Amino acid sequence: MPDDPLLGQRLLPRLLPLIEAPAGSGEEVLEAHALLEDALRTRATDIHLDPLQESLRIRLRIDGRVIEALRVDAGLGARLTNQFKVLAGLDPVPSMTAVDGSFSWPPGEEGREEAFLRVTAVGCVAGEKLAIRFLAPPATFHDTLSLGIGEEGAHGIRRWMDATGGMLLVAGPTGAGKTTTLYTLLNQLRLEEGHVVTLEDPVEYEIPGINQVQVDEAKGLDFPSGARSLLRLDPDYVLLGEIRDPESARAALNVAGSGRSLMGTLHSRDAVGVVSSLRQLGLRDAEIGANLGLVVSQRLVRRLCTHCRERRPLPEREAVWLDAMDMHLPEEAWQPVGCDHCDGLGFRGRTGVFEAWQPTAEDHSLIMRHADESRLRRALVERGETLMLQEGLAKAEQGITSLREVLRMGAILPA
Ligand SMILES: [Zn+2]
Repeated sequence: MPDDPLLGQRLLPRLLPLIEAPAGSGEEVLEAHALLEDALRTRATDIHLDPLQESLRIRLRIDGRVIEALRVDAGLGARLTNQFKVLAGLDPVPSMTAVDGSFSWPPGEEGREEAFLRVTAVGCVAGEKLAIRFLAPPATFHDTLSLGIGEEGAHGIRRWMDATGGMLLVAGPTGAGKTTTLYTLLNQLRLEEGHVVTLEDPVEYEIPGINQVQVDEAKGLDFPSGARSLLRLDPDYVLLGEIRDPESARAALNVAGSGRSLMGTLHSRDAVGVVSSLRQLGLRDAEIGANLGLVVSQRLVRRLCTHCRERRPLPEREAVWLDAMDMHLPEEAWQPVGCDHCDGLGFRGRTGVFEAWQPTAEDHSLIMRHADESRLRRALVERGETLMLQEGLAKAEQGITSLREVLRMGAILPA
């Protein structure tokens, strides 16, 4: 059963009455539409329909976390699954392989924009599973401070924007909000009339006024050739999307080496970790040291609902975790409760936890001497810079998020 049996009532107020209405009661609304309305209201980004032995489980991804909302009987489950497959233009007959379809849907309420959805169906042992994703969520890119980066980080970004050349890399695991941070930067550069071009795979959001190029290897437009063509457009700033292989790393280096300012994302646990990642992608220490301008490392944590959060005695798990790190144990900590404002979840929205690293002359010489991550991290700590974990703990102390959310970030301890 769902963790909280009331969640179904809170999260699915439109779907539930339809399920409970007797058959043939003249109700014309599709159950699928009611579920979409409910999902949109809770700000869900994905809906999962999972077949179980004799039922179907409906789960919603809200603020990055998958939450079980309801289980319905297999008959209604099959009807819902079919409705979504038909909406997405898929054959209702279960397929042996994964199939994709998409559709647009105008919500019932006036003044709301059309939503675009992608439906993926995969045959599982217990039946067919559907994943329904809201595409191009209403993305708004404000200023860098609105990301939760703090003034120091925002100043670092400002200095990088004002300088010419060098790389700004946004580091973190998948789902850490790296793309949102980069697009926020792009939007700011666009407002300041910098000449910006991007080479992306894929182009995730379109930003008017920015020349965005989609990598298309089938047509011979890969990262190296694309980067060469981009430079002929005489940009001030180039965004290369994700740097994930030696080709894109080399292309990034060529752009930065030509005196342009380069932005990209990279998989890495923390800011100094990008040095190891770039070494693994084949860049030499001298190349990394000469071109690394600013590294922003980030994670996303859920925001505590300000209507219901409470300071309560420190839970056991958090106490053990803080104790293992030799940290101060507070008597109480902010914790989620649940109310009508947050659909009983205790959280509403997310914010970033950041670490900004602008390598100093000392860091450069450490990189040139092939210093490893822990040596570089120690240099940061010795200078008194704020690491991601401390930043997360500060946000928990202020009640912006909970200690459990910070614990889940999996950030590295200051050495
Ligand atoms: Zn609340």
